[in-house]
Amino acid sequence: MKQPTTNWAVLRECGHEPLQFYWYRSAVKLFNSMLITNSDTLRRVVQADLNLQPRSSACWTAQLLSVIQGLRGCELYVRTVQAGHAITMQEFITANLKHRMRGVWRDTELVDPNTHNNKLATYHSWFAIPFSRNECMPINVPRYLHLDLSKHVMRNISRFRLRAHTLKVEAAMWLEDGSCVCDQRLGEDEHVQKEVHALLFCQDHQVCELRKHFSFLFIPFFEDFSAAQPFLLQQVNNQLVHDFLPQQNNRLFLSELMDLFVAGRDQSAADQPINLAEGHPPL
Ligand SMILES: [Zn+2]
Repeated sequence: MKQPTTNWAVLRECGHEPLQFYWYRSAVKLFNSMLITNSDTLRRVVQADLNLQPRSSACWTAQLLSVIQGLRGCELYVRTVQAGHAITMQEFITANLKHRMRGVWRDTELVDPNTHNNKLATYHSWFAIPFSRNECMPINVPRYLHLDLSKHVMRNISRFRLRAHTLKVEAAMWLEDGSCVCDQRLGEDEHVQKEVHALLFCQDHQVCELRKHFSFLFIPFFEDFSAAQPFLLQQVNNQLVHDFLPQQNNRLFLSELMDLFVAGRDQSAADQPINLAEGHPPL
């Protein structure tokens, strides 16, 4: 994926939790296993470390306690560790650790992608697969990742979903004119060229022809859509966009739509590779 893409969205798209999740889980597993070790020496080291932690922030259990701070029910976990008892993993991971990790998405729910140029809100409102109600379940990944698609189609779809593209809403951040307005069709009202505009509203001739070709995707969702008017005029709510996008047969439409919008555009900024390990800011 590319540098302008947010880590949070990439991880969720691929069904991964953030790195911190795995670190917390490993640390607590290590603590629990040390309590039941058959090594007398190790047990005494752990007990000595527990005795030291009120006076030294450098010891291992003090650092473990410091990262537990802020979790729901952290007082109980602190007392459990201080008493030298094992932490219940299931409850720790599902009810508390995942709850903390998903705080970024709860904050994002308050942001409307129609009124804010916010990548996370755009991804969460329109593209992301909802989290399972059962927090024990892993994150679901979108269907296109399981399909045998060409690299080009796969790349186009993921770029579109993750705003790693050169639609004007994104390209304006690094291009000289800095305009977000759609330039696909002269005379079109000044619409911001974002994903939903390309999907549903743009009146460019080629885009309209493409929608007509894939009209079976639109007709079940939008009463106003027709061969004579293959675009929408009225704003649609975010849930409808979210429901429209996961249709099974939409992948070629999305890929060809990307081809139309990004053809001939400067890809240099979008093509810089991202390195998740470098820890780019999550927003
Ligand atoms: Zn347009």
